[in-house]
Amino acid sequence: MKHIPQRTCVCCRSKFDKEQLLRVVKFNNEFSLDKSGNKDGRGAYICGASACLIKLKKQRALDRVFKEKLPESVYDEIINHFNNVQGG
Ligand SMILES: [Zn+2]
Repeated sequence: MKHIPQRTCVCCRSKFDKEQLLRVVKFNNEFSLDKSGNKDGRGAYICGASACLIKLKKQRALDRVFKEKLPESVYDEIINHFNNVQGG
């Protein structure tokens, strides 16, 4: 049986298979979406449930994780990513 690592969504604190989550990574003081899951740097995971996306932006959940203010564009990029995945 293949072992799939589990990661916790920063919004809902539920555990998911790593491949179900979107990783946001900070590397060289820049934030980006790690769609492949292989980028270097410090990462945080988001599950993409609509309730989580609302909470993410409203509560700026990633600001707390990374202990700094993320650009609004990073939040928008995350939301756009999941909107595209869901075909909306
Ligand atoms: Zn979540």
